[in-house]
Amino acid sequence: MDKSVWDIRKPKFAKQTQDIKTDILIVGGGITGITLAYYLHKTDYKVTLIEQNQIGHGVSRKTTGKLTYLQSDLLYKITKAHGLKIAREYKEEQQKAIFEIINIIKNNNIQCNLEQSPSIIFSNNPKYFSKIKKNLKQLNINYHLNHPQIKQNNVYVNDTFVFHPLKYVYSLANIIKNDVKIYENTRMLSINKNNNFIVRTNLGFIECQYLILCNNYPPFIFPFLFPIKTHLEKSTIQLFKDENKKYNAINIDKHTISIRFHQDKKLYLTNSRNLNQKSEIDANDQLYQWENYDVMTMDYLPFIGTIKPNLFIATGFNTWGMTNSNVAAKIISQQIINNEIKNTFKPYRKLSLTSIINITKNIIYNITAFIQSKINSFGKAKPICPHMYCTLEHNKLDNTWECPCHGSKFTKDGRIIKGPSTKEIKK
Ligand SMILES: Cc1cc2nc3c(=O)[nH]c(=O)nc-3n(C[C@H](O)[C@H](O)[C@H](O)COP(=O)(O)OP(=O)(O)OC[C@H]3O[C@@H](n4cnc5c(N)ncnc54)[C@H](O)[C@@H]3O)c2cc1C
Repeated sequence: MDKSVWDIRKPKFAKQTQDIKTDILIVGGGITGITLAYYLHKTDYKVTLIEQNQIGHGVSRKTTGKLTYLQSDLLYKITKAHGLKIAREYKEEQQKAIFEIINIIKNNNIQCNLEQSPSIIFSNNPKYFSKIKKNLKQLNINYHLNHPQIKQNNVYVNDTFVFHPLKYVYSLANIIKNDVKIYENTRMLSINKNNNFIVRTNLGFIECQYLILCNNYPPFIFPFLFPIKTHLEKSTIQLFKDENKKYNAINIDKHTISIRFHQDKKLYLTNSRNLNQKSEIDANDQLYQWENYDVMTMDYLPFIGTIKPNLFIATGFNTWGMTNSNVAAKIISQQIINNEIKNTFKPYRKLSLTSIINITKNIIYNITAFIQSKINSFGKAKPICPHMYCTLEHNKLDNTWECPCHGSKFTKDGRIIKGPSTKEIKK
C-alpha cells in the first residue's frame, strides 16, 4: 500500500518552466538533498534543487526515523572490514550528526516529534552477541545491559532519539525556500560536461558549476559502476496500534526485526530481503503495511564525495540515512565552501577484501536476478526496465511495476515513481 505513517500535508513547489543557470544543482529532495540545501542556503552560491516527484517522497517517506548510532551490527561489520579506527570515526560521525540534527531542530524551533529514545540491540544468538558486546567496548560505547522491555539478550544506550522524518524535511524546505530554488516534478534525465555541467531534465536544461546527486540511486552505470558496488535491501514495515513506549530496538540476527513507537502506534520492520525475493508477510492484525528499500554498500561505509571534479554523490547509507544524510550534507557543503576534503567515505576508496568478496557475490546476484526476471516472464507480456533491461515484476501491494534487479518503480501505466531508471516504460 502506498501509504506511510509519516504522510502529512506537504509544502508545494512549482516545476521548472525555463532553462536555468545556477552555481550548485542538487538532484533529489529527500532528507539528504534538503539537508544539504539547508547547509548551503546562507552562502553566496546560487543553489537550485530539483525533485522528480515531490520532496520527501522517496525512501525518506517510508523510513522508521530513528536517530541512533547503535545501528544493528553495522559497527561490528565496519570494524571487520576496515579496522577499529575507521569504525570509531563512523560511530563518532553518527553521534555528531544526532547532536547536529537536534541543534537544527532546536535553533529553528521545528516541531517534529523529537523524543529521546533508548536504542536497544538484541539477539537470540549468544555467541554473536558476545562478539558485538566486545566490539562496542572497543569502540568506547558505554552500553547498559538488559533493558526491561525486551526479553532477549540485549544492550542499550540512552543518548539516542526518534523523530517524524517528514515534518523535519518539510520544515527545512520551508526555512530555505526563499534562498534556494526548489522545483518539484522536475527529473534529471542526463548529464553532460562542457566547462560547466549541463543537466537535461524532462522540462529543459540546467547549467551548473557543482552537481550533487542526492537521488538515492544514481541513474548512470559509468563512471563508478554503481550497480555492482551496491545492492538494495527491501523490508516490510507493519503498523500496529499500541501505546507509545519509550524505546526503539533492532536485532542483530539473520532476519532483521526493528521496532519503534510513534504516538499510539508501533512500527514493526521485518522480512528484510533482496529485491527479487517475494514478501513472506501475511495480512494479519496490523493497521496497514508498506515496503521500502535502501542502498547497501559492499564495505558497509556510505559513499560521500566526488566521483569526478565538482560532481558529488551522497548515497549508500545502509538503511541508516537519517544520520548519514546529515554526515553527507556537512561533508559536501564543507568541501564546496572551504575546500575541506574528508576521505573516509569517499566513493573511490580502496577496495577492502570484504568489498572484493561482496562485489563478486553481488555480480553473481545481479546476473541471477536478471536471468530469473527473464525466466519468470517467459511467455508473459511483462514490461522491461529501461535502466539495465531486467523484466519488471508486478507489486500487488502498491499496484506498481518494480525492477527486481535495481529497484526502479513505475505506475501501472508506466510513469516513473522511483529511479534509477530516468525513462518511462514503453507500453
Ligand atoms: C525500511 C527502512 C527503514 C529505515 N529506517 C531508518 C532509521 O530508522 N534510521 C535511519 O537513520 N535510516 C533509516 N533508513 C534509511 C533512510 O530512510 C534512508 O537512507 C534515507 O531516507 C535516504 O534519504 P535520501 O534523501 O538519500 O533518499 P530519498 O529519500 O530516496 O531521496 C532521494 C530523492 O531523489 C529523487 N530523485 C531520484 N531520481 C531523481 C532524478 N533523476 N531527478 C530528480 N530527482 C530524483 C527521488 O524522487 C527522491 O525524492 C531506513 C531505510 C529503510 C529502507
